[in-house]
Amino acid sequence: MFEKIMELALKRGFLIQSAEVYNAPAGFYDFGPVGTALKRKIQEAWRNQFIRREGNLEIETCAILPEIVLKASGHVGCFADPLVECIKCAKKHRADELIRNYLGKNKEELKKKNPKALELKTEGMNAEQLTKTITELGITCECGGKLNEAKPFNLMFKTNIGAAEGNTAYTRPETAQGIFLDFQRVFKAHGAKLPMGIAQIGRSFRNEISPRQGLLRLREFTQMELEYFFDPQNQKHLKFKEVENEEIKLYTREEQMKNSEKETRITARELVEKKIVPNEIMAYFLVREKQFYDAMGVKKHRIRHMLAEETPHYSGGNFDVEVETSYGWIETVGTAYRTDYDLKSHAQASKKELSVFIEERKEKIIPHVVEPSFGVDRLFWCVLEAAYRQANKEQGKEWDWFDFPTSISPIDVAVFPLMKKDGMPEKAREIEKTLREEGLDVLYDESGSVGKRYARMDEVGTPYCITVDYETKETGEVTIRFRNDGKQIKVKISEIARTIKKCIKEGKVSV
Ligand SMILES: [Zn+2]
Repeated sequence: MFEKIMELALKRGFLIQSAEVYNAPAGFYDFGPVGTALKRKIQEAWRNQFIRREGNLEIETCAILPEIVLKASGHVGCFADPLVECIKCAKKHRADELIRNYLGKNKEELKKKNPKALELKTEGMNAEQLTKTITELGITCECGGKLNEAKPFNLMFKTNIGAAEGNTAYTRPETAQGIFLDFQRVFKAHGAKLPMGIAQIGRSFRNEISPRQGLLRLREFTQMELEYFFDPQNQKHLKFKEVENEEIKLYTREEQMKNSEKETRITARELVEKKIVPNEIMAYFLVREKQFYDAMGVKKHRIRHMLAEETPHYSGGNFDVEVETSYGWIETVGTAYRTDYDLKSHAQASKKELSVFIEERKEKIIPHVVEPSFGVDRLFWCVLEAAYRQANKEQGKEWDWFDFPTSISPIDVAVFPLMKKDGMPEKAREIEKTLREEGLDVLYDESGSVGKRYARMDEVGTPYCITVDYETKETGEVTIRFRNDGKQIKVKISEIARTIKKCIKEGKVSV
């Protein structure tokens, strides 16, 4: 399934392998025109839900950070994956991944010979434990060579600022740090009151050891992160009432320990009452994340409570949104209660005041933070997988296509003249112009048969196609063809824009 979707995504220009003509290294993808449009619409939908509707603030910070920042944040010391090297061919492998792949591939054999091994969890293992496991299981490189000891490999791209040596810097591994660094200024300039949410959408970088899974593991990727700063003595959320009865699907720690896949349906209020989440704020965002994924058409999701050994020492609780894909369950959103860890670390390292004054208590505090952090590229892939439909002749689809929600379809509407004559192209061009002026994403196409044009539009998930035909001149009407059932309706030219906009709003994809 992965291959088929990737093939269509490459064919229709959603994605382009970066520096393809040079066979450049893996882990880098460019977005073609329809891919860029889809990504932009996903980001815009996020901006609407997590920034505008919440009254949060958006900033844009630099991608290159001096070493001292990332020392303070802990990334220079700890942001690493375990690396092992083959003694024979020198190939480098990520140790934990190697073990997981080995267990996956040898499941049946291990069931008989060494069933205990199948219960191994690499999450939370240190380098020494990973080395020991590799030796005990007798895992080798694919060339048959033995592997040396696991060592941490830092995942940041290193560079140097200016001409003089010694000004080490890194490309940021997450957008969050820029928000912490700017917090004081934004806070003072925007009312100096908690709670305050500050968000950012931007590129981050991780020098992955061996990225292989398309968009799921990239070396350069886009994040959408929100840092919600609040007074630790007030862990309520003002809009909690709006979500308290909403249910999420929780994958509990207990079920994970049992290697069971069972999910628990639980409301936001129960999450708080049973103290599964640290506070209302966390429960609030988990529901908003679930709603956002539903709106993106990605329905196979659950919220996983991260195991204690995977959770950073300073964290008050971490929850991931996981989505079931052709790769199995993958993490696509991390929601973390980062406490005051980041601001405190930067205050210590910079020796600057990063606390705020609480008027009511006449007290200085360092705010606490809950952070929902989304990976756009992974979400983009989940959207493609969720919307992908295989050809089905009985349904009149002789081609694979995408069933995107109308709110994020890369192209809103296509306009075709039936023939390249008798004034049809001119009329169609006029309609195209009007629809563009109405703010819609429009594509004009006159090449090939109408059937071929429909097929191309289905392949990029365009929900509506408008055709100007012989009758248009006399009746002043065009046909609108709906993507999902291929059925058509007649509409007056003056009514096209209004009709299309209404359909987009209602998510209407069939007659
Ligand atoms: Zn080897």
